[in-house]
Amino acid sequence: MKSFKRSSRVADQIQRDVSDIVSAMLRDKVDAMVTISAVNVSDDLRHAKIYYTVLGGEKKLDEIKDVFDRSTGYVQRELAHRLRIRRIPEISFKYDTSLIEGIRLTTKIDQVIEKDIIGGNKQEIHDPETISQIIDTLNNSEKVLIVGHINPDGDSIGSQLGFAGYLDQKNIKCRIINEGTIPFNYEFLPGIDQIENIENLNGGDDSFDTVVFIECSTGDRCGKVASLIDPENQKIINIDHHRDNSSFGHINFVDNEASAAGEMIYDILLYASAEIDSNIATNLYTAIVTDTGQFQYSCTTSRSLRIAAVLMDKGIDYIEIINELYHNYTPGAMRLLGTSLLNQEYHLDGKVCYMTVTDDLLEQTGSAKKDTEGLINYSISLAGVVIGVLFREISANVTKASFRSANGIDIIKVAAKYGGGGHRIACGCTLETSLDEAKKMILADIKELLNGTI
Ligand code: 5GP
Ligand code: MN
Repeated sequence: MKSFKRSSRVADQIQRDVSDIVSAMLRDKVDAMVTISAVNVSDDLRHAKIYYTVLGGEKKLDEIKDVFDRSTGYVQRELAHRLRIRRIPEISFKYDTSLIEGIRLTTKIDQVIEKDIIGGNKQEIHDPETISQIIDTLNNSEKVLIVGHINPDGDSIGSQLGFAGYLDQKNIKCRIINEGTIPFNYEFLPGIDQIENIENLNGGDDSFDTVVFIECSTGDRCGKVASLIDPENQKIINIDHHRDNSSFGHINFVDNEASAAGEMIYDILLYASAEIDSNIATNLYTAIVTDTGQFQYSCTTSRSLRIAAVLMDKGIDYIEIINELYHNYTPGAMRLLGTSLLNQEYHLDGKVCYMTVTDDLLEQTGSAKKDTEGLINYSISLAGVVIGVLFREISANVTKASFRSANGIDIIKVAAKYGGGGHRIACGCTLETSLDEAKKMILADIKELLNGTI
């Protein structure tokens, strides 16, 4: 122990003295920065390896190495005058590559972060021409209406609020008006009170010059909000990621590679070099988390994760977001889930699972319509099930059907048959028929779909 301490003390002394000697020796001879970076003295004090780094003179490196090799004797003698120890270690010089390696690695990491990880690279923005048209239109707008689809979901709500945050930054007046109630688990979102329900509008200025549709595959998906919209006198911007979007706007930003509309709003903000503060980030993160099923659905891409990574770094409380979204059941909603699972019906040798929600069930379990969100995801959780359908009895002769499929089955063909839509593997439609009749009709359609006849 003692000798180790001694050798490291000697090493420190040698490093100081050799630094002086070398800097005097090289002064005016080389225009590179030469540093004695480390000294290693053997425990028996017989040998000292002296490491040096060279910065800014890489081209002259050979020359500098040569000077060190030739000067070993000189430095050894100079050192002997200075060191007050009996035995002077025999010195040797070694070029230290760790500094250069370190710099190279840091530069590489910076490049990787900029280009690949952040996803903040503008080259990664999808459809920049359309985005630039959107930004120009907004810059010339005074009063903007933002609308989403009826019965708003996480992507729709988060994207609309994130977009409104951007308009606020630009001092462009906007209102968000939707049809349908906001599920309780989105109530924590920053700015949620801005979303107005068309059914109980308390007046306010509704002279909009621009309408931004978010997440609507057709113009009528906004439901009753359509009464405020007039494409002849308003500029219609359509932002959506559904494959079946009908391009109904004057400007159509449709990207079916985006896992969520939230990714597209992120693209717009990035293109506009807008500041993504923690409120906007919380909304867009929620949009992406919900539409990717917490990054589990097949629509999730590496880009979704890169964007989520950027949003995460904007100071959002991502643990709280997940708690609010997914671990926030009311007793009624939990009873609804439990009862719905017990009541699942299986058809076609277990390939198809039906779930059913009626007003009676909501009453019996003490739950509300808004508690049905997310229920359908359990329809394809059982091994072997490839198509899940959630039926919701709207009235005696109106039934809503929501679909999910596995193995890439194009279930949207069935939804489209009844004028519905959405994504290939997650979609919905409304049938003008009773619950029992709807179940029979859909089962016949699914049989045909699985047989390849539709
Ligand atoms: P969910 O089953 O979660 O309500 O909806 C799944 C997807 O299908 C969402 O993208 C939703 O917008 C779409 N969708 C659900 N119902 C309908 C519908 O009746 N018509 C259309 N066009 N899309 C729907
Ligand atoms: Mn969506």
